[in-house]
Amino acid sequence: MRALQYLEIGQPPRVVEIDTPEPGPGQIRLKVTAAGVCHSDEFVMSLPEEAYTFGIPLTLGHEGAGTVDAVGEGVENLDLGTSVAVYGPWGCGRCHACARGAENSCPYAVELGIAPPGLGAPGAMAEYLIVDDVRHLVPLGDLDPVRNVSLTDAGLTPYHAIRTSMPKLVAGSTAVVIGTGGLGHVAIQMLRALTGAQVIALDVNEEKLALAKEVGAHEAILSDEAAAEAVRGLTGGLGATAVFDFVGAPPTVAIAAASVAIEGDVQLVGIGGGTAAVGFGVTPYDASFRAPYWGTRSELIEVFDMARRDQVHVEIETYSLDEAPKAYERLHAGQVRGRAVVLP
Ligand code: NAD
Ligand code: ZN
Repeated sequence: MRALQYLEIGQPPRVVEIDTPEPGPGQIRLKVTAAGVCHSDEFVMSLPEEAYTFGIPLTLGHEGAGTVDAVGEGVENLDLGTSVAVYGPWGCGRCHACARGAENSCPYAVELGIAPPGLGAPGAMAEYLIVDDVRHLVPLGDLDPVRNVSLTDAGLTPYHAIRTSMPKLVAGSTAVVIGTGGLGHVAIQMLRALTGAQVIALDVNEEKLALAKEVGAHEAILSDEAAAEAVRGLTGGLGATAVFDFVGAPPTVAIAAASVAIEGDVQLVGIGGGTAAVGFGVTPYDASFRAPYWGTRSELIEVFDMARRDQVHVEIETYSLDEAPKAYERLHAGQVRGRAVVLP
């Protein structure tokens, strides 16, 4: 089969021919229908050799959807041809966190050598994908896999972050979304559907700001040195009830910290190397800072339910597997509108 692999540190990924994998006991083979292109892949491929831990070669793609193509020994009650999405943050399946469906918080996955597809295990940017367990499949039913595959990360991750701030996002509150790319443009829609917050979007790119408005942001402003002051201006001087930073770089973390209100939340979702200094007199009284990771299995089901009710959609650009390297180039250049989706 053909797959998009990261083969050499610092070099672009390439389409290569590899053996089609067979599902082992308990495993499922999917014929991949769609795979999303995430900025985290770009992060992974930017790491120097000494910091790179994902294995080489690495088949990319941690947002995956497919149809059940073959099942391994012991897998029952799963019809061939069923359209499914893949829950990506695989855990051990036995511990307290996994029992709650919070496999993204499994403390044992790393030591057991369990890694998400595309982030250690072979990913979805291939004709076929092996999924380690049926519990990592979410039936899509009538949902279009191409339009919805990215909800497995670009939907689930913002949802997981927003959920913990929801009790604070009452009528009259304000949410700031920094970075209105793949995750951010979905976050805006979720905030509009689930909360009473005024939503202020920040980006460095005018087209992304236009997209932010289109998907429901009340305000869309440039992410620069004046941004925190602008947020204060739009909140009667109080600051934002919650700030969701989908960039996480030093300048955006600084904006997040300077924008948050007393008792507010800062959620650092982006992995852009920024860190916040938190302390008495440095940050507003009772403000909380959090760096969330992906989301839970039940949250993924809830995200797909939002899509079924037209509360959230993903703006997509589609690419063939051969064109996938170009999708990563466009992502790198900040040119992707919404999410790039590869159709292997
Ligand atoms: P993306 O490339 O689709 O979007 C990033 C957006 O940020 C773009 O619109 C870009 O114009 C904008 N941007 C860049 N610099 C900015 C700045 N200084 N101020 C404001 N906006 C700026 O990326 P994505 O796929 O949505 O991912 C967003 C981030 O979230 C990445 O860092 C990714 O690695 C991370 N991520 C984290 C998790 C997690 O579990 N914590 C999960 C998925 C992705
Ligand atoms: Zn991702």
